[in-house]
Amino acid sequence: MTIRSFGNKMNITGTLIKNYFHCKRQAWLYYYGINFYSELTRIGKLKHLEQGSDEIVLGNIKLDKINDNEVIEFKKTSSNLEGTKAQLLFYLYELKKKGINRIGKLKDLTYDDEYELNLDEKNLEKIKSILQEIKTFIENTKKILKRKKYKKNCKQCSFFDYCWV
Ligand code: SF4
Repeated sequence: MTIRSFGNKMNITGTLIKNYFHCKRQAWLYYYGINFYSELTRIGKLKHLEQGSDEIVLGNIKLDKINDNEVIEFKKTSSNLEGTKAQLLFYLYELKKKGINRIGKLKDLTYDDEYELNLDEKNLEKIKSILQEIKTFIENTKKILKRKKYKKNCKQCSFFDYCWV
């Protein structure tokens, strides 16, 4: 596999962050343009449409919904709550850099739950440190990470067939 040059600015996206929390192997593959869509992903996308998402693309971020007070992110699958929270913090951070300040609202469609996130000092430091960690990981990982032990996450992962079949 040809490794992308790091001369260009690294393209960090919300999905990359979410994948990083889910599995570093998946994050690395995704960064280099390899992605799959499982049935669960498709179901998640449909649930997402049902919510009346009016997706907005602003540079490198893709927001499910934004209004005068909030950025709303719909969590479409049952796993990876921490990754989805980090994704939302990233959106709040990118918006703040553009002079747009919002509260983050995470709507968990599986468990019918809601979480509110603010980009306070603590969360600002948290997302900066996550971004740095991901950049370091991508820059220093030149080969596909070997799959490790089968884990709980693998069962619902859209890369399952690639990794385990
Ligand atoms: S199937 Fe498992 S090892 Fe493969 S990318 Fe997904 S979580 Fe990672």
